[in-house]
Amino acid sequence: MTKRAYNFNAGPAALPLEVLRQAQEEFVDYKGAGMSIMEMSHRSKAFEGVNDNTERLVRELLGVPDGYSVMLLQGGASTQFAMVPMNLLADGKTAAYVNSGSWAKKAIKEAKLIGETRVVASSEDARFTRMPDLAAVELPDNAAYLHLTSNETIEGTQLASFPNTGAVPLIADMSSDIMSRPLDIPSFGMIYAGAQKNLGPSGVTLVIVRDDLLEASRPGVPTMLRYDTHAKSKSLYNTPPSFAVYMVGLVLEWIRDKGGLEGIDRLNREKTGLIYSAIDGSGGFYRGVAESGSRSLMNVTFRLTSEELEKKFIQESEQAGFVGLKGHRDVGGLRASTYNAVPLESCQALAEFMAEFQRQNG
Ligand SMILES: *Cc1c(COP(=O)(O)O)cnc(C)c1O
Repeated sequence: MTKRAYNFNAGPAALPLEVLRQAQEEFVDYKGAGMSIMEMSHRSKAFEGVNDNTERLVRELLGVPDGYSVMLLQGGASTQFAMVPMNLLADGKTAAYVNSGSWAKKAIKEAKLIGETRVVASSEDARFTRMPDLAAVELPDNAAYLHLTSNETIEGTQLASFPNTGAVPLIADMSSDIMSRPLDIPSFGMIYAGAQKNLGPSGVTLVIVRDDLLEASRPGVPTMLRYDTHAKSKSLYNTPPSFAVYMVGLVLEWIRDKGGLEGIDRLNREKTGLIYSAIDGSGGFYRGVAESGSRSLMNVTFRLTSEELEKKFIQESEQAGFVGLKGHRDVGGLRASTYNAVPLESCQALAEFMAEFQRQNG
């Protein structure tokens, strides 16, 4: 048995051990082809099967209806920050954005380079310790879309529910909570997510777009940056990140075997419940960063009473086999990323470590 770390990395992040083992088994000789996935033509029957399987599982698990295209692109979610307005922000329209934290800010910055952009809700005045209230959000009359970030990976906040935007397409960056809970796809115009938090290795980005939006793509956008290019060619317009697409397929099979999104959601609640309980039961020794209604089930952010103690916590946690608990460099503190593939045992171990650390330092 190889010793596995208690991996709380924020991304790239933990992958299911079962998936790594299966990939290892198929690594040198994929299903009798005499070569690995990485050595195959992306036009081969075998790779076409892999590509189709990944797309089919996305549709099955998320319940993506007809009338939506599923794409597997490159460039990360960061490229989507630009592709969204390049394709969907028509002249004379205004792009509406929710400013919920570090990732939302980056999306807004790119939209401003492309066209008229307005922030319609923000929690910056609360230092992003909560998600903005979107119940009564007002959109410009000429809104092209409303863009939001469902889970702010750095601050550790998550939207518990999504606003009804009527005829205005709702677009969500779900990079850090895609496939972590059931989702109503028809209420979205578009969803995108880099794979390296909840779906697989880095290198591939999942994009789901309603077809009427694809068709309204702005003219003059370069071929590789157009959604319709990739939708029409089943994400095989150019050479895809074939190994990453294969790995995402294996992770999706693993999610299906865990009871789909409902099963995963239950497990995620149990996992983060252990860590939030350790925080809330500590009598102020640990302090959660996010307000209770905005707490993330993917990134648990917390602080200790001094930065010195936080340093000690990180140091001793590393000695005890924990990885990735240091908060993002922009915000400090501590962060446990508890994505789908992080096992319950890692969260149990962390809750126990936290209690023990408090006993010795409280
Ligand atoms: C990680 C992350 C991104 C950036 O993803 P890249 O694939 O590195 O471009 C964007 N948005 C959110 C919410 C993220 O967590």
